Amino acid sequence: MPPVSTPAIMLRRIAYGDFDLIITFFSLNIGKITLMAKNAINSKKRFAGILEPFSVLQIVYSTPKGKGLSVLQEASLIQPFTFIRQNITKTAYASYMAELLHDWTEEGHSHEALFDLFFYILRELDKPDSTGAELSILFQMRFMAISGFQPGLSACIACRKPVDQMDQQVFAMDLKKGGLLCDPCRSGTGGFFSLSKGTLKQLLWMAGGDLKKAARIRLTSLALEEGTRFLEAFVPFHLGREPKSLKFLQQLRKGN
Ligand SMILES: [Zn+2]
Repeated sequence: MPPVSTPAIMLRRIAYGDFDLIITFFSLNIGKITLMAKNAINSKKRFAGILEPFSVLQIVYSTPKGKGLSVLQEASLIQPFTFIRQNITKTAYASYMAELLHDWTEEGHSHEALFDLFFYILRELDKPDSTGAELSILFQMRFMAISGFQPGLSACIACRKPVDQMDQQVFAMDLKKGGLLCDPCRSGTGGFFSLSKGTLKQLLWMAGGDLKKAARIRLTSLALEEGTRFLEAFVPFHLGREPKSLKFLQQLRKGN
């Protein structure tokens, strides 16, 4: 097969022996792809020190005949996103998002919308005055919507009554059923996350419409707190496991 060239965001890398790296990228043209980068550890010349997490690269790789990983041939920098890697909290947020992409997408299936979303979020996160919390909510809402797991936030998932037509101000979220339940429909009192009406609205604003406009929304502190708690439970629940990077992120926030 002739070499393939595509823009790609680096998700993770692990050392393979003393010289090589195994790198997983999320690429524009092919989606998730795992490549062998030979001599990447010792030879600074080979890839000029640009194989860093979250950097966006133009990569060229080739696939060997028969078995074995495809091999990274060339890489040139599109965006280094240095500020993210210099800040531990930003790194923790980016790692969580990268892990969601890594664990939830299949090798070799292109997802242009997810590539554009992650690239955009990283660009915003790299800005000196940005914080990760709102961007993480934006990412999770959009990621779930694109993946077909968007939580039901606009109407009761049992009786279908729209939130706008209800007087109650706080709603129970049922993780398993994937959305909110109105008071008459919920049974029992425990085991629910509560989201206020205002939070529901703000999360829905973030999930839909133009991405740049959604990124300019400033969440209220209540929406930020409720949204973070809810999504960081909802997303792992539907992913089927707890991302390691999420535990680290939560510990880091607790310490601050
Ligand atoms: Zn109901």
